[in-house]
Amino acid sequence: MSNEALSNLLHEERTFPPSEDFAAAAVAKADLYDRAGTDRLGFWAEQADRLQWETRWDDVLDWRPPFAKWFVGGTLNVAVNCVDRHVAAGHGDKVALHWEGEPGDTRSLTYGELKDEVSRAANALTTLGIGAGDVVAIYLPMIPEAMVAMLACARIGAPHSVVFGGFSAGALASRIDDAKAKLVITADGGYRRGAASALKPAVDESLEMSEGKSVQNVLVVRRTEQDVAWTEGRDVWWHDVVGSASTEHTAQSFDAEHPLFILYTSGTTGKPKGILHTTGGYLTQVAYTFANVFDHKPETDVYWCTADIGWVTGHSYIVYGPLSNGATQVMYEGTPDTPHKARWWELVAKYGVTLLFTAPTAIRTFMKWGDELPAEHDLSSLRLLGSVGEPINPEAWIWYRRVIGGDRTPIVDTWWQTETGAIMISPLPGVTAAKPGSAMRPLPGIVADVVDDQAKPVPDGGGGYLVLSEPWPSMLRGIWGDDERYKETYWSRFPDLYFAGDGAKKDEDGDLWLLGRVDDVMLVSGHNISTTEVESALVSHPKVAEAAVVGATDPTTGQGIVAFVILRGDAAEAVADDAEAGEAVIQDLRGHVAKVLGPIAKPRQVLLVAELPKTRSGKIMRRLLRDVAEHREMGDVTTLADPTVMNLIGEGLDKGAKDEE
Ligand code: ATP
Ligand code: MG
Repeated sequence: MSNEALSNLLHEERTFPPSEDFAAAAVAKADLYDRAGTDRLGFWAEQADRLQWETRWDDVLDWRPPFAKWFVGGTLNVAVNCVDRHVAAGHGDKVALHWEGEPGDTRSLTYGELKDEVSRAANALTTLGIGAGDVVAIYLPMIPEAMVAMLACARIGAPHSVVFGGFSAGALASRIDDAKAKLVITADGGYRRGAASALKPAVDESLEMSEGKSVQNVLVVRRTEQDVAWTEGRDVWWHDVVGSASTEHTAQSFDAEHPLFILYTSGTTGKPKGILHTTGGYLTQVAYTFANVFDHKPETDVYWCTADIGWVTGHSYIVYGPLSNGATQVMYEGTPDTPHKARWWELVAKYGVTLLFTAPTAIRTFMKWGDELPAEHDLSSLRLLGSVGEPINPEAWIWYRRVIGGDRTPIVDTWWQTETGAIMISPLPGVTAAKPGSAMRPLPGIVADVVDDQAKPVPDGGGGYLVLSEPWPSMLRGIWGDDERYKETYWSRFPDLYFAGDGAKKDEDGDLWLLGRVDDVMLVSGHNISTTEVESALVSHPKVAEAAVVGATDPTTGQGIVAFVILRGDAAEAVADDAEAGEAVIQDLRGHVAKVLGPIAKPRQVLLVAELPKTRSGKIMRRLLRDVAEHREMGDVTTLADPTVMNLIGEGLDKGAKDEE
């Protein structure tokens, strides 16, 4: 971004205040903001009291920028907080997990059963020589053992490094080596898109590639019953060692700053970073945000987060947040289109899901598939919807609320990062009058701002860089083994401010709008234009399901706006074999953007595409589209979910270039 402010083009008039009933019964009350504002550290100490501590802390915060220690001197056990204490409180028979396999097999685990499983696994890990401080790599499908394995590691103080099961052997090897993992927990395979998909071969290959040779054992869950190659002495079956272990396990408490896990970022911008999270502060903030942002009522709610356990959302809002609150939740193994495209809605109806947390990429996919599929199922149990991962375009927000939420549910658009560990900016349901597309305000206890080049807060109506001005309990404690990269990446842009890497604007009311990465901001004829605003303008056209926008070098304007657009079902069919109709839609879309945002934002080029390049967590990778648009060799594609997408888009671009005005 140049030193000019980020242009503020998109205007939104719609607001959705909470209903009186919702507000009256809501977990969060408006006074949270005052309490946190008056005594921030006291507020966080109150939140830490949600947990069971063995030793109370001496100081809430020890801040030596950019290094923080929270709840100094306190000790606790994360697994005890997530499992044992609920059983001790008489909730042993409460369902913790309704698990649904892709083929339709199911399993339920009560808190009592979960305690037994976690204790067995903890004993088994100890038998395999894993102790406090040893790193365990977890490479599993979405099966209950993933949750059990993470909790067992936490229980014995062994930091886990969960690697998304869709990653290649090479990606797994580099993560194993980076953290010097001693054990890998994996499965023979998992079910995806209607077929068994093997995992164990990738582990075998990664251990051949591994340079550090730190791994001593591979613990293998049997899920698909596929044949697996076996290395005697190294490989052990979960059902043997965990199955035969005792359910008696006495948990030891760990220091509040003991490492809980390492997790690599999703890789939208480049080489993933190994983000380190610790124990007491992390659990405090995920517990607090889960209760308040999702309005969680332990007696009645059934919660479902559709993320994979391999992403931070899976860590914080499948495992640690919900379980520390004693929640009942749904976990689903497979893809949303198997065996049919209404599988999610079928599951919502089957389990009576009340709180649903998903990502804009999924919402836009369902928009593309049409309103009929959700309509086939009874979604009336839903009472709150959440979104995370990318900016949610206002039209996608409206669609989500109308079609999935029956025009009744609040939506919480939650902004946060692997690095922040927990939700930072979000509406508070029952308190906030939400605006579609805005993440609204920093949560009580969080201090964030939007600043200009000189670190000066921009006025309402202005745009710039999103920063966090005060440390927060679940903040990353560093990049694993690389303090210099930690300082350089997050703390060097502005002195004493954490720079998130994202652009944002404050609207006239001071509410926050996330505008995507500052690296993606386009400079068109001297104006800084965010990709998000142009994408939202495109998505507001009734024919458009999804759009990705990049700035490509342009001889006259500096950068020209190039848009890659996926049309909704009917509209896509109508132009499939009709170049003239396609051209008409393209001109219509260019005109539409000019009308919504002004002529400055009119795309130079619009390409109709069938797919967009995404990370394995479903985020659009604009840097690759920029490479294509500028006819450059593509950068790092290792985190790309489907490499063939780029060839198709490249071909389309070459064709499209000839049609240019
Ligand atoms: P990498 O850092 O490796 O490039 P990544 O940033 O995609 O990968 P994550 O930590 O999973 O990895 O994602 C955090 C980022 O996702 C945020 O910095 C922001 O850009 C985006 N994001 C998450 N939630 C929201 C949201 N509600 N609104 C807008 N953007 C969001
Ligand atoms: Mg990031």
